[in-house]
Amino acid sequence: EGIFLEGNPLENPPVEIVKQGREAVLNYFKSLENEKQPLNEVKVLLVGEGGAGKTSLVKRIFGEDVDGNEPQTQGINIRKWVVENGDREIKANFWDFGGQEIMHATHQFFLSKRSLYILVLDGRKDEKPEYWLKLIENFGGDSPVLVVINKIDENPAFELERKFLLEKYPFIRGFYRLSCISNEGIEKFSKTLKEELKAVKHLEIKWPKSWLNVKSKLEKMRPNCTPDFEDESACDHRNFIQYNDYKMMCSEEGISDESEKNTLVDFLHDLGVILHFRDIPLLNTHVLEPEWVTNAVYRAVNSKEVAESRGVLKLDMFPEILKLNSKNDFYYPVEQYGFILSLMKKFELSYDLDDRTVLLPSLL
Ligand code: GDP
Ligand code: MG
Repeated sequence: EGIFLEGNPLENPPVEIVKQGREAVLNYFKSLENEKQPLNEVKVLLVGEGGAGKTSLVKRIFGEDVDGNEPQTQGINIRKWVVENGDREIKANFWDFGGQEIMHATHQFFLSKRSLYILVLDGRKDEKPEYWLKLIENFGGDSPVLVVINKIDENPAFELERKFLLEKYPFIRGFYRLSCISNEGIEKFSKTLKEELKAVKHLEIKWPKSWLNVKSKLEKMRPNCTPDFEDESACDHRNFIQYNDYKMMCSEEGISDESEKNTLVDFLHDLGVILHFRDIPLLNTHVLEPEWVTNAVYRAVNSKEVAESRGVLKLDMFPEILKLNSKNDFYYPVEQYGFILSLMKKFELSYDLDDRTVLLPSLL
C-alpha cells in the first residue's frame, strides 16, 4: 500500500516488526508520528545594498519606530519573529546583514536554500536588482523572494521592469512599494510576509525527535545562545565544531546513518544553525558563529600586510592577521587558517597563486 515508499529509508520498519504483520507495521509508523514534529522554523534573509533600508524595514516589521537616523548595522543581526499559524507558531529568524561595501561578498556565505528572501531596494537610486537576484538564484534553491522598493516617500516615481524580472526570476513572489519613514505600505507588506511565511514549503517537513535534539544541542553551543535559552550554564559557547564532534552528537541521539547525518547538516545549514560547505574538502569545520568567519575575511581584506604586498595573501601571514589583539577578539586556531582561505577561494574573494598563496583581487 505504498507505506514503505512514502517516507525516506530511515522510516523502513525493523524486520522484527515487519514479521509481526501489517498491524504492527502501522503501529510502528504511528509511534514514529508521535515522535516527529514539523520544525515550523524559517530563515528570512534581508539582502540589498547598504543604506537601502534593510534594518529600518526589520524595525517596522517588528512594530518599532524608525527615526530616519539608523546607525549602520555592524556584523550580522539575527532577530526572531513569531507568527501565529492556526494552532501552531512559526519561528522566523530574520538575518539582517550590515557592514561596509567590502563585506557584501561575505553575505554570500549565508545565502541558503529553503529560506525566504526580502530584497530591499532604495527607490531613490538606480538600483541593480539583478546582482542580488542572481546571487539568490545561485544559492537560494527555489526560495521565494519579496522585492521591496523602499523610500517611495522621496521618489514616488521609481519603478522596476517588473515583467522582465518576473520572467527571468520566477521565484519572485511580488513587488512591494513602501516607505519605512512614512510607514506607507508597511502594513500591507507585513501581512503579505506573514502569508508567505506560512506558505514556505519546508515548514511541513516533519523532524524526528533525534534531529530536533541535535539542533538544540548545537544552538546551545552558539556564542549568542543566551538570553532566550534556559540558563547560561546550559550554554557552551563555541565558534565552530569539527565534523567529528557533530558525528558524536548524532550518535548520542541514535543517528548512525551517514546519509541521515548529511541530510541533517544540510537542513541545519539552511536554517542558519551551522554554516557548512560540503565542497571544502578535508576541512570539516561547522561554523556556529557567523561573525567568526566574516570577521576573519574582513581582517584579511583590510590587513596592512596584504595591502603592502599588493593583494598577495600567504598562509603564513595569517598568524599576524588573525592574532588576538584583545580578549574580545575572535580566536582563530592555526588549524583553521586553511578553512578560512578555502572559504575565500570558494566564494571567489581570492584566487590561487599557489597552494599557500592567493591574490585578493579587490586590492589590485
Ligand atoms: P540598511 O543599510 O539597508 O540597513 O539601511 P538602513 O535601514 O540603515 O537605512 C539607511 C538610511 O535610509 C537611514 O538613514 C534610514 O533612516 C533611511 N531610510 C530607511 N527607509 C527610508 C524610507 O523609506 N524613506 C527615507 N526617506 N529614508 C529611509
Ligand atoms: Mg542595516
